[in-house]
Formats: sequence, C-alpha cells, structure tokens
Amino acid sequence: MNQRTPTVGTDPIDALRTAVTGSISVPGEPGYDVATPWNVAVPVRPRAVIAVENALDVSATVRFAGEHGLKVAVQRTGHGAVPLGDDVLLVHTGRLTECLIDPDTRTARLGAGLVWQQVIDAAAPHGLAPLAGSAPHVGVAGFLTGGGIGPLVRTYGLSSDHVRAFDLVTGDGDLLRVTSEQHAELFWGLRGGKATLGIVTAVEIDLVPLPHFYGGALYFDGADADAVAHAWLDLCAGLPEHSSTSLAFLQLPPLPGVPEPLAGRATVAVRFASVAGEAESEEILGALRTVATPILDGIGTLPYTALGAVHADPVDPMPVHEHSALTRELTHDAIDVLLSVAGPGSHSPQTIIEMRLLGGALAREPRHRSAFCHRDAAFSLFVSGVLAPPSADVVVAHIQVIDRALAPWATGTSLPNFTATSDPDRIARTYDDDTAHWLGALADEHDTHGVLRVGQVVRRPR
Ligand SMILES: Cc1cc2nc3c(=O)[nH]c(=O)nc-3n(C[C@H](O)[C@H](O)[C@H](O)COP(=O)(O)OP(=O)(O)OC[C@H]3O[C@@H](n4cnc5c(N)ncnc54)[C@H](O)[C@@H]3O)c2cc1C
Repeated sequence: MNQRTPTVGTDPIDALRTAVTGSISVPGEPGYDVATPWNVAVPVRPRAVIAVENALDVSATVRFAGEHGLKVAVQRTGHGAVPLGDDVLLVHTGRLTECLIDPDTRTARLGAGLVWQQVIDAAAPHGLAPLAGSAPHVGVAGFLTGGGIGPLVRTYGLSSDHVRAFDLVTGDGDLLRVTSEQHAELFWGLRGGKATLGIVTAVEIDLVPLPHFYGGALYFDGADADAVAHAWLDLCAGLPEHSSTSLAFLQLPPLPGVPEPLAGRATVAVRFASVAGEAESEEILGALRTVATPILDGIGTLPYTALGAVHADPVDPMPVHEHSALTRELTHDAIDVLLSVAGPGSHSPQTIIEMRLLGGALAREPRHRSAFCHRDAAFSLFVSGVLAPPSADVVVAHIQVIDRALAPWATGTSLPNFTATSDPDRIARTYDDDTAHWLGALADEHDTHGVLRVGQVVRRPR
C-alpha cells in the first residue's frame, strides 16, 4: 500500500502511485530508507523508491519515467551501489521473492529480489546448489547480470553461463521472456551487461548436485605473509579445475563477528574450495601448511549452505571504497611487489586485498556466448578499504599505489561485478570494443527514451 494520500497537482510522482501495486516512497516517507545501500558510502538519493510487487510495476515505472523525463535505476542490496540523484526513480526488487526449486530438472526459478543464501537454503534439501558468489547476501539478479564468479568458478565456470531464462522489463516498458532462443541477442547481453538492457524481474538457472564441498580458509599471521603468498602462487600453478582458490591480505577491525585471532591485526587468508575429496585437497594444501602454521584453520568438508565461510565477506552495511583489476599473469616478482605495497607491514590502509585465481572452466566460452569479457585473465584483484577514521583519507589515494605497482602484469581491464561505477570510461574497460558496441546498440533499440541511461550501463554517446 502507498504510504500517503495523493495530493493532486503537488508532485507528478503521485500519478504513479495509482499505477503500481507496490509502495512508493519519496524522501522523508516510510520505506524510502530501503534505498540505503550495503555500501553506505555511496549517495543513493533518488526522487522516489518504488518497492515493486511484480513486473507490471516495473513496466509502469519505466513508462512513467519516459513520459516525465526521469531515469530509472534498479537496486536490491546495494552491494554494487552507484550514486543516484533526484532525477532517478529507483526500482527496489526486494519484494520479488519467488523461489521455485525443481529437483527433477535441477533448475530454479528465482525472483530478482532473492539473495543467494535464500536460494542455497531452498535448494539444499534436494542435494542441489546454485552457483552463488562469495558473499551469500548479494542479490541474484545483480550478480548474474554481471557474470558471477563464485568460490567454485574454476570447476563450474561463470554462474551466468548456467542461466536458462530471464524475465525482463525493457527501457520501453516491454515485458519479455528472454532465452537462448527468444530474444537471443538480449540473452547474450544480459549475461554480463548488468542493467544496460533492462530490469530483470525473475531468472531461471541450472542447479548442480553438490550437498558438500571441501574447503574454507586457512588464516596465517601477517608475519608469515611472504612465505604463504609465494607458496600460494606455487599452489596456483597447475591447480586442477576441481579446485578454486584466492589469497587475501586482511586488516579486519575488532568488530562483532570477526573471529578474535583475526581482529585488529594483519593476517593472510588462503581461501580454497574444491569438489575433490579431502585426501586430494589436502595434498594440494600440504605445502602451504609446511611453510607456516595457521592461526585459524577453517578448512574441512563443509555443507554447501556454508559456502559463505570460504571468503567470510562482511555482512553488515559499511562505507567502503572498492577497486578491481585483472592480470594476465602473476609471477613471484609480482607477489613481492604486491607484498611491498599492500601486504602486512606495508602500511596499506586497505581492509581486504584479494587475488583470485581465474581460469579453468571460466576461461571456456559457453555454448551460448555472452557479453562477459576477459575470460582469458589469469587473476582478479579486488581491493576494499573502509572509509572510516583513521584511514579514510588515504584509502582512495593508495589505490593508485597498488595500480602503479601491478601495472606490468595488469591487463588494464576489470570485471563488471567488481566495478560498481557510473563512470563511462571505467565501465568501458569491463568490455572489449565489440561487446560495448553491441550492448550500446541493443540498449538504444530497447530504450528509445533513454530511461535506463543511468548508473552502471553501457550507452552510446548521444
Ligand atoms: C562483499 C562483496 C563480495 C562480492 N563477491 C562477489 C563474488 O564473489 N563474485 C562476483 O561475481 N561478484 C561479487 N561481488 C559483486 C556483486 O556481485 C555485485 O556488486 C552485484 O552487482 C551485487 O548485486 P546486488 O543486486 O546485491 O547489488 P545492487 O547494488 O543492488 O545492484 C548492483 C547493480 O546490479 C545490477 N542489478 C541489480 N539488480 C538488477 C536487476 N533486477 N536487473 C538488472 N540489473 C540489476 C544493476 O546494475 C545494479 O546497479 C561482491 C560484492 C561485495 C560488496
């Protein structure tokens, strides 16, 4: 229900209140706060928040925006929030919570308002698993439209390679079912193009039979960073596709939820996830265990419902500055450089600096090609710094130090899911030229008024 009685003639938004089933909130009204993103450092202050109940609400919102010269953006959790101002109507998908698991076909139909842990928990009783990301509180639609790199990415490939269908509302307000056969060009572009081609209201995905996996994280004292990081790089060389891994330099604050041995000090985490059994996995991890003794050993056979334990990403909203990059390779020299500018003892202000090994199934083009680019990258760098005293001022500037240091190995590109921005130049670097061209052309075709020309989208200059 809407929160206030419309006063005809005072605000054009009032006309929209009669056209949608969901609720509409302008600043100061109950419900507006749902727009507050997970990354609270990003100013998300739209003209109104439309908590949509269904795809028709999205269509009505988009058409209304087209008629009134407004833009429309979409948000679920705000893990990838971009700044939005009062020329924007924000579609919030949190009420789109349909979750149908079909154990016979090993598929799921998911409302765009679900977060991964909800899907993981619904599929688990059937021994099935969705290919979620490292943070289970991320939204399914935002994650999948950005490609989706999960803790088991080298085994199963990109999560969006396992999408069967999207329900989409285009910028023109059309409701489309998009599959590899229906609107195939949109099916290509939605897997990687984020919200460029429209607002997803539901998605159908394949599930994999995976009740358990072997993995978790080994945490080491910062003093062992040198030995651990080099041993990890050796582990990466020739790692079979049944296993995925990442390395993270951590400086976690002493906050509730942060394990005591990791709080308020520099540590190093080796994350590992494998569909191989304990014996094979431990053989791979053996060398790491000989170079240093973990201060926390979180590796074992885990139920898939505990997937979030691999990265143990922060859950609660916080003000962060994020940065990402891709490398074509990572040598021992590169590890030394990374240690010197971002490792323990380097006076880095960053909270998390992570290198994920890519490759494996991710590197192969899927049967149905997509707009996800840079499959040939070897490693993904992700940096996250908390914008709070005492390090807030230096967090942003320090990114340049990391970038300069890693330049000899970097590709100059990044991945859409790790590049939350509305800067066209940075968005362009998440695609190759052909992909950016076709995404822009398709966007113009399906959004003739430019309603969706806001946020992390690929558009051609007007
Ligand atoms: C702590 C943390 C861990 C992460 N781990 C991973 C990871 O392991 N792998 C990975 O691939 N990514 C990861 N990400 C990135 C994450 O997948 C993206 O930020 C993703 O966009 C979040 O989706 P959301 O809907 O939760 O966020 P939101 O901020 O709500 O949405 C972000 C963007 O996603 C798009 N979007 C959202 N909903 C829709 C929709 N219904 N239709 C069309 N487009 C939509 C829009 O472009 C929107 O601006 C991580 C991010 C954080 C902060």
